[in-house]
Amino acid sequence: MDKVQAFKMYTVSSISLAGGQGKTTVVLFVARLLAFQGHTVLLVDADPQSSLTTFLGHTVEPDNPTLLEVLKKQVNTEDGIYKTQYDNLFLIPSDDALDNVQDYLAGSGTGAFTLKKRLASVAKLFDYCIVDAPPQRSQICLTVIGASDALMIPIETSVKGLQSLIRTLELITELRDDQEAFNGEILGVIPFRDRWVGLRRTTESESNIESMKQISTQWLESDLVLPSIRESEKFKQAINKGLTLHQMHQDDLAYPIEVIVEKIKRLK
Ligand code: ATP
Ligand code: MG
Repeated sequence: MDKVQAFKMYTVSSISLAGGQGKTTVVLFVARLLAFQGHTVLLVDADPQSSLTTFLGHTVEPDNPTLLEVLKKQVNTEDGIYKTQYDNLFLIPSDDALDNVQDYLAGSGTGAFTLKKRLASVAKLFDYCIVDAPPQRSQICLTVIGASDALMIPIETSVKGLQSLIRTLELITELRDDQEAFNGEILGVIPFRDRWVGLRRTTESESNIESMKQISTQWLESDLVLPSIRESEKFKQAINKGLTLHQMHQDDLAYPIEVIVEKIKRLK
């Protein structure tokens, strides 16, 4: 980490090309832990489903600028940033109107770099930017990857998850090798909803995580599978109550989030 870089915002996105893979959950818990540790964090909700905006209890009023207006350059990026109920944590929200940006990005020719350009003007204000991506291989997804210094890939420990992992790695490789739109780091693959019974991981989870290791070694030439997020209602409860896992005395469940946060801080 050199000194000049340390003052620049480091952007990390959560990418996985299927629904329900844990993208928003990872974004929320990672950002909240970084903010809790005293870092300033900008969250970007780049999914028209706007789960992140909802999880944060943020309401988009009719005239409020969102990521849509920021991407279309109808407002300055700062004007699309809102405080959240948490210290050090800020948000560029979205709502379902964000879908209207697809044509704009497709038509611009350099759509993969649009978010990166819009974030540049606020790069001095935040330590980290954490972006939540949509589940489809859309123009929005491309611009999110193009803006990223690093990618985290949450994958459900299921067959659907393994398919998402392959599709996601295909897209990242294409953007890196063919279009030169991504030259950042792959932070890792995060198994999501890893199922345990008592002290044992289920055979299904076991075999799916083994497959994740093989797939990631095949594509990335290294086994980038990080500690898993266990299947647990506690995550939903923490989201609903606005608490961290530590505040809920769930230190074991918080471990994978801590590992991701430490890795992000090392990479910056
Ligand atoms: P989408 O593609 O629809 O945006 P996603 O990849 O963002 O989905 P999440 O919304 O993060 O996935 O998670 C899917 C669901 O799993 C959510 O309803 C969330 O509350 C729930 N969930 C979060 N953490 C856990 C957990 N540890 N165990 C079980 N369910 C969880
Ligand atoms: Mg989501």
